[in-house]
Amino acid sequence: MTMRIFLSSDMEGTSGIVDWLQCRGPGPEYETSRRLLLDEVNAAIDGAFDGGATEVLVNDSHGAMANLSPAHLSHEASYLSGRHKPLYMMQGLDETFDAVFFVSYHGSMGSNGVLSHTYNPRAVSAARLNGITVGEAGINALAALGHDVPVALVTGDQVTIAETEAILPGIETVVVKHAATRFAAMNLHPVAACRAIRDGARRAAQRVATGDVKLPPLTLPARLEIDWLSADMAEMAAWIDGIERAGERVVVIEGDEPLQIYRHFVAAIAITRSIVET
Ligand SMILES: [Zn+2]
Repeated sequence: MTMRIFLSSDMEGTSGIVDWLQCRGPGPEYETSRRLLLDEVNAAIDGAFDGGATEVLVNDSHGAMANLSPAHLSHEASYLSGRHKPLYMMQGLDETFDAVFFVSYHGSMGSNGVLSHTYNPRAVSAARLNGITVGEAGINALAALGHDVPVALVTGDQVTIAETEAILPGIETVVVKHAATRFAAMNLHPVAACRAIRDGARRAAQRVATGDVKLPPLTLPARLEIDWLSADMAEMAAWIDGIERAGERVVVIEGDEPLQIYRHFVAAIAITRSIVET
């Protein structure tokens, strides 16, 4: 029997990472961080295999999306890396996967989570899915639902976990650090963080095997509201077919097709990147 896991890895949710300097190369801080991230991703892969997974695809979702050393991925996991992916943090997912893991995720812009933001910290001030404030995990769940794949695991700080549980109740969660502010946290030792992630990933995979993990419980038609930092950004986002202006800085993407909503959101993120002045 096969079990395919789609693992979307970010970076800000790794234990020990509390500053942008650690998340952007080049530099010695970034080199340290990418090793910490690699260990957490590998802990999730190892745990998945402990729980019955037979294949893992890692989709690198942070920055230039090439943060991991391919040869050092555990269990010969495949690695989807590089920029300009139409399905961005969910690129590579399709119906053949049995579950989605979110590793090293962070809280939404506006939350007290470490390095909190929602896709683009210079564009998005808040996002709500069916009325619930969501970060990237919640938004990305639209793509999971669109492909009929459950989300089984999320790792990050306590704020990220609480936010994710609000929209995806009952999934396996692992807290690797406790945010004090957006730039300070009490971090588990990396070894302890990785042990907790491996355990959480094993539990998640075991639940996938027994059919205990459900599809994201998002009521359709779903409604994604995005607050932008400026009115220009809302205006530009509304140039995309399927995105409606709902206020000076607010747009709405609504519909019965969760994947379509996610695609529209990714397009809005891309188009608003062209605005540099705020
Ligand atoms: Zn990131």
